[in-house]
Amino acid sequence: MAKMIRCRDLGLDCDYEARADDPEALLELVRHHARRVHSLEEMSEAMVEKIRAAMRNVG
Ligand SMILES: [Zn+2]
Repeated sequence: MAKMIRCRDLGLDCDYEARADDPEALLELVRHHARRVHSLEEMSEAMVEKIRAAMRNVG
């Protein structure tokens, strides 16, 4: 099941959205984006849990 997420769902003022074929791939996309755009070098466990909770199924 493909998944998608929006930065806005995480409370960030950002129009980024990502989708991937599975949660781990999506988490990697968000990690990369957060590092590049939001200067978030390391994500805490709490942040990862928040991201997982905000993922939606697509397709
Ligand atoms: Zn963003």
